[in-house]
Amino acid sequence: MKMWGQSTFYMSQKTRFDLEQADIPSAWYNLNADFPEPLPPPLHPGTKEPMPPDALEAIFPRNLIEQEISTEKFIEIPDPVREIYALWRPTPLLRAVRLEKALNTPAHIYYKYEGASPAGSHKVNTSVPQAYYNKVAGTRRLATETGAGQWGASLAFACSLIGLECNVYMVKVSYDQKPYRRMLMHTWGATVHASPSNLTEYGRKLLAEDPQCSGSLGIAISEAIEDTVKTPGTKYSLGSVLNHVCHHQTVIGEETIKQLEKAGEEPDVIVGCCGGGSNFAGLAFPFMRQKIRDGKKYRIVGVEPSACPTLTEGELRYDFGDTAETTPLLKMFTLGHKFMPPSIHSGGLRYHGMSPMVSHALKLGLMEAKAYHQTKVFEAAILFARKEGIVPAPESSHAIAAVVDEAIQAREEGKKRVLLFNLSGHGLLDLSSFESYLHGKVQDV
Ligand SMILES: *Cc1c(COP(=O)(O)O)cnc(C)c1O
Repeated sequence: MKMWGQSTFYMSQKTRFDLEQADIPSAWYNLNADFPEPLPPPLHPGTKEPMPPDALEAIFPRNLIEQEISTEKFIEIPDPVREIYALWRPTPLLRAVRLEKALNTPAHIYYKYEGASPAGSHKVNTSVPQAYYNKVAGTRRLATETGAGQWGASLAFACSLIGLECNVYMVKVSYDQKPYRRMLMHTWGATVHASPSNLTEYGRKLLAEDPQCSGSLGIAISEAIEDTVKTPGTKYSLGSVLNHVCHHQTVIGEETIKQLEKAGEEPDVIVGCCGGGSNFAGLAFPFMRQKIRDGKKYRIVGVEPSACPTLTEGELRYDFGDTAETTPLLKMFTLGHKFMPPSIHSGGLRYHGMSPMVSHALKLGLMEAKAYHQTKVFEAAILFARKEGIVPAPESSHAIAAVVDEAIQAREEGKKRVLLFNLSGHGLLDLSSFESYLHGKVQDV
């Protein structure tokens, strides 16, 4: 019998494709340089004219506004940001051979694992540069909102490493019911308020009307913006939706292109879940560049919950990003800024709007969109966990559900297809959702 050390079995099929630290991308990609039609600009909520960039300086530092409106194809990543990225990047690309076997599919399934980061998701790819550019611009304190806590935790982490105060308005229902990410934020030194709070005029107004108000992301955004404009030295930070956030996330796709080359494969279908659109953009936009420039025929699919069907049932029009109507108007697929999404287990996918860049890509036919009910999503998540080991975030599991369907279709058609998805985060702080599902308590709304 062979000893473990002499065994050769694990070399027989390569399932993990790693890069060197030096392969951390040196630039972010900006799809705005390659869109066949330019992205419609944000509008001033009062005048309905294109927003003059300096009007945004009340909430964002100038260096990030420049990225927001940039049409440069590549934006250089500062060394201090790459050095922090090196704590978890490059992230692995894995081939899900056990899932393929369980589905008896000829498809090859690859996933980019962003859950390997300190905060457990892709969101730190943008929280770190946002904290860095604020620090460089002289900001002392950041204010933000968070739903289930993934963004708040990611910003708390970044502020802790870069040396900024971090103030988070957390949707009250999550503050009460999802304590672990609140504790994570505290561990990284952030201050966390349940929203609506009595710290802002808007929060006090809502609490006077309804003391039991359980909050929403739109309300928390309004509170964070009010805090920003009223507190000296403070800027606002957003974890998704905006152009500069999408640019920062492209490190995901740039690394994946190199890793798939190592694997000797070309993807046929590229899948990501869509909340505000940033993890999807991060994986998909570098592939869209190849679609536009090199005529590649990839199918690129964004997956959202049926309970918050922004891309599949929303309207493409100008809308506010928040409930109090304080943000610029963005041209995006939207369910309306007063839309109150039902409480589903994917907190990160409950936003009424969608990134203008992702919305534009859908309008231009560079991608397609699908919606899944949450029972189907958890079914796929459990299958993935039991075959591949990693417990996926409920958000990411929307991508898994779509990939499982693609793999079954490949089997039925007898076709080898290469499927690629973004595993945007792990689900280890979402175990109560899995427990509910396993007890038959998760229902489709
Ligand atoms: C926040 C979050 C999402 C949704 O946000 P996007 O901006 O659409 O990426 C998806 N997956 C995970 C793990 C998240 O934390």
